[in-house]
Amino acid sequence: MDRDQVLEHLKFAKELGVDGVSRDPTWRARDDSHISSVGAELLVGPEASIVAVSRNAAEALAAVRADIGDCTRCKLHTMGRKQVVFGVGNPEADLMFVGEAPGADEDIQGIPFVGRAGQLLTDIIEKGLQIPRKDVYIANVIKCRPPGNRNPEPDEVATCEPFLFQQIDIIKPKVIVALGKFGAQTLLRTMDPISRLRGRVYDFRGAKLVPTFHPAFLLRNPASKREVWEDMKLVRELLKA
Ligand code: URA
Repeated sequence: MDRDQVLEHLKFAKELGVDGVSRDPTWRARDDSHISSVGAELLVGPEASIVAVSRNAAEALAAVRADIGDCTRCKLHTMGRKQVVFGVGNPEADLMFVGEAPGADEDIQGIPFVGRAGQLLTDIIEKGLQIPRKDVYIANVIKCRPPGNRNPEPDEVATCEPFLFQQIDIIKPKVIVALGKFGAQTLLRTMDPISRLRGRVYDFRGAKLVPTFHPAFLLRNPASKREVWEDMKLVRELLKA
């Protein structure tokens, strides 16, 4: 490789999240088992003596957040949203929840699932699954509040979902719970109703995906909590596997 190629290579690696290199051969022998790396080793030149220093999941998520910025990629930024609601929780969570879109409370606080539906989700996580909410990761398919809480539109989903996929690929959860028709249909690329989708486990980007009813639906239909409890039992089994 000539110098320009090496430079291009390193620039590309930087875009992928590699934020440093070392010529020191001891780097190759270093114990980085404590680091949850999301980048790959980068070897350059015949001696292969340049080794990339990869970022951990928290830093990689921060980079995605920075990339989103004060987003103007879709029309929602002109429709009254206050801020981007990126996601919250443990960057290395085994369990991730994916909702639809921020509502009014989330738009104000910048945190997903903090309104009434959010309180119910917190109960499902903490009282049902017996996991502290801070130990899971929670995000939405789209990151900005649609006006009047209408359903996200296809162009908004198409623009925003790559960021969700990046979050999933960085966090690498064992299990993803898709909350409600919208989250499940978007992730599974299907129009099947949630009543047909739930009760089964799907493979999704290296994780096991469990669709269940949205907490907002449960607030209107408390009798369906029984099915959600069945789904959470499935989640518990999958987390143990
Ligand atoms: N409903 C969602 O789908 N997401 C939130 O963040 C809040 C309510």
